[in-house]
Amino acid sequence: MEKVQSHSFKAEMKQLLNLIIHSLYAHPEVFLRELVSNSSDALSKIRIKKLTDSTLFDFDSKLEIKIKLDKETNIFSIEDTGIGMDENDLINNIGTIAKSGTLEFISKLKESKKEDSSSLIGQFGVGFYSAFMVTDEVTIETRNDEPNGKAYRWKSNGDESFTIEEIEKENRGTKISFALKEEFKEYLEDWKIKTILKKYSNFVEFDLSVNDEKVNSVTAIWQRSKDDIKEEELNEFYKFVTNDYNEPLTHLHLNIEGNINFKSLLFIPASAPMNLYSNELDKGLQLYTKKIFIQDDSKNLLPDYLKFVRGVVDTEDLPLNVSREVTQTSPILAKIKTILTTRILNNLEEMSNKDKDKYKKFYLAFGPIFKTGANSDYTNKEKITKLLRFESTHSEDGEMISLTDYVSRMKEDQTEIFYLSASNKEIALKNPNLEFFKSKDIEVLILSDPMDVFVVPNLYEFDGKSIKSIDKADVKVTEAEEKSEEAKTNEDNFIAKFKDILGDKVENVIESLRLVDSPVTLVVGQQGMDAQMEKMMQMMDKDFVTSKKIMEINLKHPLIKNLEKLFVAKENEKLELAVNQLYEGAMLIEGYMKNPNEFVNRMYGFMQDATN
Ligand code: ADP
Repeated sequence: MEKVQSHSFKAEMKQLLNLIIHSLYAHPEVFLRELVSNSSDALSKIRIKKLTDSTLFDFDSKLEIKIKLDKETNIFSIEDTGIGMDENDLINNIGTIAKSGTLEFISKLKESKKEDSSSLIGQFGVGFYSAFMVTDEVTIETRNDEPNGKAYRWKSNGDESFTIEEIEKENRGTKISFALKEEFKEYLEDWKIKTILKKYSNFVEFDLSVNDEKVNSVTAIWQRSKDDIKEEELNEFYKFVTNDYNEPLTHLHLNIEGNINFKSLLFIPASAPMNLYSNELDKGLQLYTKKIFIQDDSKNLLPDYLKFVRGVVDTEDLPLNVSREVTQTSPILAKIKTILTTRILNNLEEMSNKDKDKYKKFYLAFGPIFKTGANSDYTNKEKITKLLRFESTHSEDGEMISLTDYVSRMKEDQTEIFYLSASNKEIALKNPNLEFFKSKDIEVLILSDPMDVFVVPNLYEFDGKSIKSIDKADVKVTEAEEKSEEAKTNEDNFIAKFKDILGDKVENVIESLRLVDSPVTLVVGQQGMDAQMEKMMQMMDKDFVTSKKIMEINLKHPLIKNLEKLFVAKENEKLELAVNQLYEGAMLIEGYMKNPNEFVNRMYGFMQDATN
């Protein structure tokens, strides 16, 4: 190759650099965390490779990270004995954005308020390029593990282009060095660097030194006994594992011995990361065997509905050179998963009993994911169902109750658990289908999380009591009163007239046994989809056809009684207008109104009559 080759950055890279420099200026020290973390990754990679390949270049070199601060020359450098890079790696890994979503993230960062930005940074790595915040030019010197490989120097001012040239380098690994900008000279101070490292990198598993003085403890904290670990250390470890800036909500320290042997330190974060729902960014637990790091994204150690749990699992039962494929199918890991799941659920149960506020915090942050376990984890269905929480017609605003609470205060003759779904409690309380329940003081659960309508109907029952939506037509709440044969026939004809007028807009028209104050309501048939669920389906799929509703009419309501008189007097024109208006009004309340013009024009007609 020619002595010095020049390459230009891809367009998106320039954008990224620009964003990094202008968004992260409030947190310049992140560069240190990013560089140490890259070195640590490079060392982990070579440590795993060493297990199976004894021909690696520089096989015996000690795995470590050395930071040097030179006040004479203003140069900061960090050097590792990791896996190194060849020319291709330098071009492909250090000149492109590896992670999709990074650009999007940084743009978010730019929009966010300054106080939020630190927690956002924690959730994403910003990478090697953060170095350009504190310097104008970076030099990378690196050599990989090829026995006959070459060494390279990469140089760039982070602007348009970078250069690569071949160099001599005696040992394996990567050295990154740069002169600090005038305003960042403080990063040449030992104490300054050490303080930052303590914050971000105290648990790096390789020796880390600053000007030849060791700074980290390299202890596997989960290997120590519970009583030995201070709360503060746990919090620090949590922050190290997750990059979260906040303290965790709770932790769980397990030491399992027997058929299966492992130690584990798990955390539930205090708030949901913004990428909780995207699959791409879900991490999984860190897996170690015999204190040696294997992989940091073991998704198969926890069921999906617990994927927000963070931490490490260290087992003695797997070989050190376990491959990724093996970890995906290993029966040992499957057993560990079962144990972890049970322990986490027990922990949540305990929290829900002992510290309701804390549990509520958990539930608000992770409930939407957690509750899906009630449908997907058959073994633990009962446990999870007990941990579900809902608002209710009988709870204080903001208070959430469990199904156990509900059952314990059911009316004596009540045999079913009732729920109503709505986008929030305030809207739910206005639903006409609640009138009967209100009048009888029967409690109704309010499902206000969109996920609830997928989870709750599939529970079918709890504690032997079936769980029913009050929107459904088969909710039988009162017995129809005795009526004379003649009255019955008249009513039947009147109802038939309704059906006649509405035609195929409705599935059926029936007498309502649940309405108290409203003249009509729309309900779904026994097989029909919950109204809230239909709305979600409509949102996801514009062409989704909603099912026809059953219209219930309240024969005792004065308005309906008036209509019955019109019917007897054969004032069909007026009756038709009124029935259509009632139907559309009910659609409006349910949020289904498509064309408000007709409705409003008809209303003007009625108003004109009324004010005449
Ligand atoms: P990230 O670390 O998030 O992937 P970076 O921009 O920090 O993004 O690094 C890009 C890639 O460059 C890394 O994934 C790795 O392949 C390579 N790299 C960076 N630093 C080192 C290093 N010290 N040793 C070996 N490879 C490295």
